[in-house]
Amino acid sequence: MANIHAIYPATEGEGIRIGVPQVFVRFQGCAVGCVNCDSKETWSFQKEQETSIEDIVIKIISFKLNWTSITGGDPLDRHHREDVLELVKQLKAAKQKINIEVTGQSIDEEIFELVDFISFDIKTPSTGILASEKVLSRFVKNYGIKSQIKAVIQDEIDFKFAYKMHKNCPETNITRWVMTPACSLDTPLSMSVFQWILEENQKMGAFFRVIGQQHKWVFGQDRLDI
Ligand code: SF4
Repeated sequence: MANIHAIYPATEGEGIRIGVPQVFVRFQGCAVGCVNCDSKETWSFQKEQETSIEDIVIKIISFKLNWTSITGGDPLDRHHREDVLELVKQLKAAKQKINIEVTGQSIDEEIFELVDFISFDIKTPSTGILASEKVLSRFVKNYGIKSQIKAVIQDEIDFKFAYKMHKNCPETNITRWVMTPACSLDTPLSMSVFQWILEENQKMGAFFRVIGQQHKWVFGQDRLDI
């Protein structure tokens, strides 16, 4: 049985798939612990809604949307990994397109081969988590073609770090690199920081797409499951 936080239809609010309606499946539990996480309610591994994979698939299909986004929490955490793999297999059999949002801490070849799109994080210094250049390079080489690399930017240190990761990564052209200005309950969106990121990215050669989180502007920062 999978430990599920929520399953709900919504429109993608960030990254290069912004604007695409899809079903979100959020797994309950994450051990990564980013300081500026915007979904801390998904950290606990205490059982929320224990749901069979078959029932998850039935619920997803009932929304009649083509895409499913598997997220968390951390869907690749060892507590979830086997359930996520089974879910991916059953969704493929049901002809669903699948996006998975991952923390950028590891590569899961079996799951990454099966899904249609991967949103892969660079953990910037403000998250308090160390991103690995080695993991990122291997990911871009093998899965860059069907992915985005996403960095949350809170300040200049984050910005410089994201550019350094991009510069040191081979084959950068085969994937899409995205900067997301930080916006969470602990770190409210700063328009001056947003403007600075836009301008600085242009000056640096514009290797990133800068995309804010529209769902938070439309529904508010404290509304969950949107
Ligand atoms: S990996 Fe995602 S869910 Fe986990 S702490 Fe970081 S931002 Fe939050």
